[in-house]
Amino acid sequence: MKKVVHAACPHDCPDACGVLITVEDGRATRIQGDPAHPVTRGFLCAKVAKYLDRVYSPDRVLYPMRRVRPKGLAGEGARATRAFERITWDEALDEITSRFRAIASEFGPEAILPYSYGGTLGALNGASMDRRFFHRLGASQLARNICSAAGEAGLKSVIGIKMGTDPEQFTHSRYIIAWGANIHGNNVHLWPFISEARRKGAKLVVIDPYRTRTAACADWYLSINPGTDAALALGMMHIMVRDGLADRAYLASHSLGFIDQI
Ligand code: SF4
Repeated sequence: MKKVVHAACPHDCPDACGVLITVEDGRATRIQGDPAHPVTRGFLCAKVAKYLDRVYSPDRVLYPMRRVRPKGLAGEGARATRAFERITWDEALDEITSRFRAIASEFGPEAILPYSYGGTLGALNGASMDRRFFHRLGASQLARNICSAAGEAGLKSVIGIKMGTDPEQFTHSRYIIAWGANIHGNNVHLWPFISEARRKGAKLVVIDPYRTRTAACADWYLSINPGTDAALALGMMHIMVRDGLADRAYLASHSLGFIDQI
């Protein structure tokens, strides 16, 4: 029997694609972007377009495996499977439990540091059950999202919530600044909206130490040195205030503290 299942991409990606999966006799045979999804527009990124290759790959890890050779031996990458042997779930759980117990009794449970973040995780294993387990264990606590906490704090302080700009709003923009963002390479479904805005006259500025694919397409590419972002941002603010370019009414109603300083 053949049917098409509506799904969502499981990756932790801002595009949040709608996906159509053709299933024949219980096996997925085709994956495609949902043409009815207003952002996905019928195409998937190169990584997920080949998702079924990985789902059914013979190299996929489906069972607990125990390392039987030391790490870092020459050629291990090519012969990775020989470095591991399959064990049962009971053996895996017993081994993990005994190691946790040994660490906790010798050094205290805080010697265990859980570290994980986004990826192909749902709400259950991404941000709930594992926390309960490790909190109960008394393990060290880590913000986990060490790569995005600063951006989240910035979004909350500027627009109140941890939510980026709606992709469909980009078409109304007249000046788009991609600051450290390789949109053309990593946020592919936003690109058509930016192209649409540019067709209507918008300018795209890219600020990035690395000349990305997005930088190569920009109207203006600023190749700054790593670590100089703050100096550039402060310089831009200085010019806006000095030359009367700042929108004072907007700043007064949508920012905290800035208007009092100028
Ligand atoms: S761009 Fe790729 S990773 Fe991101 S949501 Fe779409 S299919 Fe998933």
